[in-house]
Amino acid sequence: MSASPPSDRDNFIYDIIDEDLANGTHDGRVATRFPPEPNGYLHIGHAKSICLNFGIKHDYADRARTQCHLRFDDTNPETESMEYVASIKEAVRWLGYDWGEHLYFASDYFEQFYAYACTLIAQGDAYVDSLSEEEIREYRGTVNEPGRPSPYRDRSVEENMELFRRMRAGDFPDGAHVLRAKIDMASPHMIMRDPLLYRIKHAHHYRNGDDWCIYPMYDFAHPLEDAIEGITHSLCTLEFDNNRRVYDWVLEHCLPAEEVPQRPHQYEFARLNVDYTIMSKRKLLHLVETGAVDGWDDPRLPTLAGLRRRGVPPSAIRAFCHDVGVTRSESRVEISLLEHAIRDDLNTRAPRVMAVLDPLKVVVTNVDEDTVDWLEVPHWPREIDNDETRAVPFTRELYIERDDFRMDPPDDFYRLAPGREVRLRGGYFLTCTEAITDDDGAVVELRATIDPATRDSTAPDGRSPRGTIHWVSGTHGVPIEARLIDRLFTVPAPDAQDAPFTEFLNPEARVVQAGIVEPSVRDLPADTRLQFERQGYFWQDPVDSAPDALVFNRIVPLRDPWAAREEAARKEALEAKRKAKEAEKAKQRKRSMEAQRDPVERLTEAQRQRFAHYHFTRGVAREDAAVLAADDAVADFYEAALDAYDAPQALAHWVVNDLMRVLKDRSLAELPFGPEELAALVRLAADDVVNSRGAREVFDVLVDAGGDPEAIVDARGLRQINDRSALQEAVTAVIDAHPDEAARYRAGETKLLGFFMGQVMRETQGAANPEEARALLRDRLQE
Ligand code: ATP
Ligand code: MG
Repeated sequence: MSASPPSDRDNFIYDIIDEDLANGTHDGRVATRFPPEPNGYLHIGHAKSICLNFGIKHDYADRARTQCHLRFDDTNPETESMEYVASIKEAVRWLGYDWGEHLYFASDYFEQFYAYACTLIAQGDAYVDSLSEEEIREYRGTVNEPGRPSPYRDRSVEENMELFRRMRAGDFPDGAHVLRAKIDMASPHMIMRDPLLYRIKHAHHYRNGDDWCIYPMYDFAHPLEDAIEGITHSLCTLEFDNNRRVYDWVLEHCLPAEEVPQRPHQYEFARLNVDYTIMSKRKLLHLVETGAVDGWDDPRLPTLAGLRRRGVPPSAIRAFCHDVGVTRSESRVEISLLEHAIRDDLNTRAPRVMAVLDPLKVVVTNVDEDTVDWLEVPHWPREIDNDETRAVPFTRELYIERDDFRMDPPDDFYRLAPGREVRLRGGYFLTCTEAITDDDGAVVELRATIDPATRDSTAPDGRSPRGTIHWVSGTHGVPIEARLIDRLFTVPAPDAQDAPFTEFLNPEARVVQAGIVEPSVRDLPADTRLQFERQGYFWQDPVDSAPDALVFNRIVPLRDPWAAREEAARKEALEAKRKAKEAEKAKQRKRSMEAQRDPVERLTEAQRQRFAHYHFTRGVAREDAAVLAADDAVADFYEAALDAYDAPQALAHWVVNDLMRVLKDRSLAELPFGPEELAALVRLAADDVVNSRGAREVFDVLVDAGGDPEAIVDARGLRQINDRSALQEAVTAVIDAHPDEAARYRAGETKLLGFFMGQVMRETQGAANPEEARALLRDRLQE
């Protein structure tokens, strides 16, 4: 690439990479990837991801071994195609990025995915489920209710292996079986309730043909793709926040333990949304398929192909992505920000010419019919350091913009009107002498005269008209079709309305006008981006324009000069908003980084060994193990407790959740109790001597004054009532005391169980064994 594209170095992802490099986390490697699914053309939202991923490769090249992969995530056979692959490659290249040798297809990894799936089955971490799709959904439970295990969950490894093999062999129809991870049907995170890994799909894949009839799910395939390619930082959009749990689970269970600190990590950032348009391949496809637009490269679309055809330079898109930045807060960016970036880019690159888009004929009566006066007019405004000029023919017949003439001009209208003098851009002063109207009173032609002494745009007597207008020779001008491209929708959020988004398509998103342009455009390369003075930036439509039939797309309008004052006020407001945002951004950036950090990565080498021991050898949950290992004193305390009572996860839970809370404002040395006491308490809870509520009370006493946990239990009467007959008594008493509630329960109002539990707890001063009490209550209430 010629010039280095700007990238947004100022964001939390860069902070994370900086920290990783400082810690040597990935051995000085930074590998990112852009992983589109070839099921549509890329849009400007994808550009944000492309600029981020390839920008990182570029920005860290001097400090790390960097690479950025282009990977086609093609694991869904039905919607993918080679046409999309080609269009995506072209779009990435057009944006100015190069994947070099790092071009990959997930469909090349199918054999490896299959092998990993077999590994999971062999480890007892995956099973073949034969419930229907609907049953699976139902068994999964809800956010408030745990799921239930599928009746097929405990199939033997051999049976699972055999079924999975037959799934692959094509022995079953679609939907007959799926492969699921065996994680936790009661997890508070719905996504962890045995997510699907594979489904049967007898479909033709655009690359693999009919080789496969089982296809991996995104949650299974994606982390493995990253791992296979040695990606270090896997960047995706925020909607995958929750999926990170599965991502980590898959890697943890598929990769050997010693590779854990090196494995890829997923980080999420907010997706780009732009107002007055849509950012979804599916919806864009709908517009293309229904003919609402002319194709994926229709200049009205936010696709990269559409923006390219419209004439937007890739550098403007990169600058826009830079302006938008990378954060974790969802927002919709104003389309004016994009327009601003485009204007900013084109201002110094687009030579000025004159074109009239809504022509009104002017006959200059004091100029001869065969006069052709070639004026030298600068291509560039004064503030741009370039003195190129072009020759513009001045003739008796001219065209001006219809809107630059008024029969009855308002006070602040300084352009042409009967009897008024204006300056013709780059030439003479012109005075309107007559307006010719048709039968309806519409102006069809003007008569005018010029002052021959004003050829260089100044008058010997020093007078200066207040208005300057653009114009084109009627005899030498070149007719053009001008396509005025505007926003695609009439509302800022078309996909957040009550009606379908297609109802809000802007019928004026493309207005076609027959205009005329000065002949000098023919001397410039056809792909030159031009500024039509006072109108906007244009270029020739690369598909429809021909030398004898020029078609120009408007890339972006210039700001309406009449709106300049409003604009200034708006800018000021924007600036204030930007400053406030910046302050907020700095705060958020820190939070974003912390929230996403894998605690394991921050550990020192020695701490990592402790972590690995707790987690892999002793089976402590990953996050708990990481927290324990991160603090040497806490880890020592934990291990001493473990020596006294060998219950790794239960102890870890107490240390991480309860002890660490206390340690926020006290040190371990200040505590009036030690590891033995904590171990004794955890043992009392595990042995059902005390229930969880009682255990917490004992803990509070330990924190305040220390002591022997069992003595505390007795002193406070916390000994759990496990004895059935004692519980029975309490349960009977409670039910007898609340006959109405009991009747309602029996009539089906089963959520009253909670109420009864509360009463039993009260009756027993909180000492009842809750499981026993609940079971007894259920029994008695059913009678
Ligand atoms: P769409 O919803 O438009 O189909 P997608 O996310 O399904 O988009 P993919 O092909 O899966 O499309 O996207 C490839 C990459 O681009 C992913 O990493 C995705 O997170 C990113 N991406 C997609 N849309 C946006 C967006 N609007 N802003 C930023 N990144 C995006
Ligand atoms: Mg997608």
